[in-house]
Amino acid sequence: MRIFCVANQKGGVGKTTTTVNLAAGLAQLGQRVLVVDLDPQGNATMGSGIDKRALDPSVYDVLLGSASIAETAREAPKAGYRVLGANRELAGAEGELVGLDQRERRLKLALAEVKADYDFVLIDCPPSLSLLTLNGLVSAHGVIVPMQCEYFALEGLSDLVNTIKQVHANLNRELEIIGLLRVMFDPRITLQQQVSEQLKAHFGAKVFDTVIPRNVRLAEAPSYGQPGVTFDAASKGAQAFVEFAREVVRRLK
Ligand code: ADP
Ligand code: MG
Repeated sequence: MRIFCVANQKGGVGKTTTTVNLAAGLAQLGQRVLVVDLDPQGNATMGSGIDKRALDPSVYDVLLGSASIAETAREAPKAGYRVLGANRELAGAEGELVGLDQRERRLKLALAEVKADYDFVLIDCPPSLSLLTLNGLVSAHGVIVPMQCEYFALEGLSDLVNTIKQVHANLNRELEIIGLLRVMFDPRITLQQQVSEQLKAHFGAKVFDTVIPRNVRLAEAPSYGQPGVTFDAASKGAQAFVEFAREVVRRLK
């Protein structure tokens, strides 16, 4: 079982879109996938077709130790993977976790119990460095960083890179950046091409070959309760994510 965090300290950069579409792409390749929604907004949950208001138990209960992943995970009805769902309740977990021991290892310990059930676990992180994100980073073998090729993209990345280094040094020796994924890419915009080149110059092979284009079908899919990959398989966005899933599998070999 390989565990990846999809993380970036900025909001609205495509973390959730990457999580659910990579999950659906991997599922299409025959992989058994669990999506863990660690964001109290519950967008990965809703975007997988699961009503966040009707979750009981949720990832909150798993973190606090009152439910197991096996009894909490639900099937995404149209996407072929399972989801450990989140809702607003998760925002309260932060405060309650502080008083518990192993507070940054709660998710890791819970995932150990389902090691034989999944090939991939994808953790959708909130856009902050909270105890929730820390639980994700401590559990993971690596981090996938979606990013838009905008002017301050590289600067914003240094915070995340430092955080990953610290977690690597203190809490999780296995943690590494698996790769940077260029998302919402528009090749007609010269600045995006320039930033993309800078990214490759700076991070080399850590930049995934696959590029995810800006594609409206990916943005529409969540309101239909499924990832773009299954909502409109012929769309450019869906095809890019299936190709990305292939690249991820290839890189691990
Ligand atoms: P985050 O989880 O980092 O906050 P989201 O995945 O929710 O970011 O994406 C932010 C917004 O951008 C959402 O409305 C989403 O539908 C849209 N979006 C994400 N990726 C694409 C894309 N490749 N093309 C068009 N819209 C996208
Ligand atoms: Mg999100």
